[in-house]
Amino acid sequence: MSQAIYPGSFDPPTCGHLDIIERASKCFGLLKVAVFENVQKTPMFTTEERVSMLKDACAHLANVRVESYSGLLIDYCRANNTKIVVKGLRAVSDFDYEFKMALMNKKLAPEVETVFMITSLKYLYLSSSLVKEVAYYGGCIKGLVPSSVENMIFDRVRAKEQ
Ligand code: ADP
Repeated sequence: MSQAIYPGSFDPPTCGHLDIIERASKCFGLLKVAVFENVQKTPMFTTEERVSMLKDACAHLANVRVESYSGLLIDYCRANNTKIVVKGLRAVSDFDYEFKMALMNKKLAPEVETVFMITSLKYLYLSSSLVKEVAYYGGCIKGLVPSSVENMIFDRVRAKEQ
């Protein structure tokens, strides 16, 4: 069975992420969504919260599993015996970063291929950081994140203000 990993911070998961997950899940037998546990950053949501939000949002996709990882992506790929990494591409800014990451991963693990999936047009401008910024200033984030995630973001923003 073909298997792929879709890694990211997902802080929080957005509809852009979900769109990539749904489309990638049709291309592979098993898609593992891997939440990166970055010890150097203070995220809005803990790793466990992000895993749980993604599990909820992907509950309708039978061949999608959600896990977390820390350290090098290629080590996680090797531990999972997976040779395909899926990444989403929005604009030129993504390309520059992803291009470097893909080439570095290729150098570290020549057996691992990075496959790029172009964003759907309606999510071109969408990023986790922009969603957090809009929510922070009280803007509407409906349709930008899975509905189960929406209230969690506003709860976290309010908690931060107190
Ligand atoms: P971000 O914080 O920028 O959303 P993540 O690390 O959570 O970044 O993103 C994980 C992966 O999802 C990356 O490959 C990223 O390019 C991709 N991605 C993020 N948002 C979108 C979107 N709106 N459309 C397509 N791909 C996306």
